[in-house]
Amino acid sequence: MAGVFVMGSINQDFVLRVERRPGPGETVTDAELSLHPGGKGANQAAAAALLGAEVTFLGRVGDDGLGEPLVRNLEEKGADASLVERVPGRSTGAAFITVTPDGENAITVAPGANRALSPRDVEAARERIAACRVLVAQMEIPRETVLRGARVASEVDTRVLLNLAPPFRVSRELLSLLDPLVVNEHEAAFLLEEPVEGVEGALAAAPKLRRLGARSAVITLGAAGAVVADGESVAHFPAPEVEVVDTTGAGDAFVGALATRLAAGEALKEAVSYAVRAGAAAVTSEGAQGALPTPEVVERL
Ligand code: ATP
Repeated sequence: MAGVFVMGSINQDFVLRVERRPGPGETVTDAELSLHPGGKGANQAAAAALLGAEVTFLGRVGDDGLGEPLVRNLEEKGADASLVERVPGRSTGAAFITVTPDGENAITVAPGANRALSPRDVEAARERIAACRVLVAQMEIPRETVLRGARVASEVDTRVLLNLAPPFRVSRELLSLLDPLVVNEHEAAFLLEEPVEGVEGALAAAPKLRRLGARSAVITLGAAGAVVADGESVAHFPAPEVEVVDTTGAGDAFVGALATRLAAGEALKEAVSYAVRAGAAAVTSEGAQGALPTPEVVERL
C-alpha cells in the first residue's frame, strides 16, 4: 500500500536557445536545440521514483516515435510505465520552449495524446489505484479525467494530491476530495480571486483554500518554501538557502517528494518539510528531470 499512482502529462520538451525571438514572418537561424523529457505528470512520477517511491504512471503518448523514448526514460528512472499506451493518429505531447539570453522563457505546448487520456482509462486502472496509498494528478490532461481519478481514488481509500497547474476553475466536489491541494502563489491567487504574496499572504490564503472545500492545502513560495493548512493549523516551512542554477521543475520535484513521503505514511507537515528541501535541491542544477534529487541529496540539505 505504499505506492504512488501518478496520472498526467508526458511530453517531449524542445528547448531552443536564441539570441532573440523572431517576429511574425521572420526567420532566426542561430538557435541551439536541446531535447528533454517533460510534462508535469512524467516529471512528478520521475521525482517520486528517484526518491524511492513505488510509482505507477498512467498517461498517453502518440504513435510518432517521440513517445517510446519518453516511456523508456520513465522506466529508467524507476517508475512502472506499463499503463502508458500509444494513441493511433495522435502526436506525442510536446512543449516548445524558446529561451533568450536574459533567461526569459516563451512556451508553446501541443498537448497531443495527453488529451486522449480518458475517464475510462482511469476506471480501467481502478485496481492499480487501489493498490497505491496516494494518487497524484495535475491539470495537463482533460479535467473530466482528473475528476474521475479523484473519485475512483476516494472510493478505494487512496489519498488524492492534486497539483492545480496550470490553474483551472474546479468544482467544490473535486476540491472536497483533495488532501492536499497543492498550488503556487499565482495558482492560489487565481482560485481565491485575490493577490497572494509572500509568506504572510500564503499564511492567510491557505485556510481560505480549505474553506473553498479542500481538505488540506499547500502553497509553494519559491525561495521562501511553502505554507500548509491542515485541520485548524497553518504552518510555514522555509526552504534552505541554495545556489540557484535553474528553477525549472522545482514544483514537480516538490510534488513528487510530497507524494513519496505521504505514501510512506508521514503526516502532511513532515512531508512538506521534506518536500521543500527536495524542491530546493532541484534548483541547484539545470533542467526539469535532469535536476531531480536523490534521497541522499535531500538529506544533505
Ligand atoms: P516551477 O513552475 O518553476 O516548477 P512552482 O511555481 O510550481 O515552480 P515554486 O514555489 O517556485 O513552485 O517551487 C517549489 C518549491 O521548490 C518551493 O516550495 C521550494 O521548496 C523550492 N524552491 C523553488 N525555488 C527555490 C529557491 N530559489 N531556493 C530554494 N528553494 C526553492
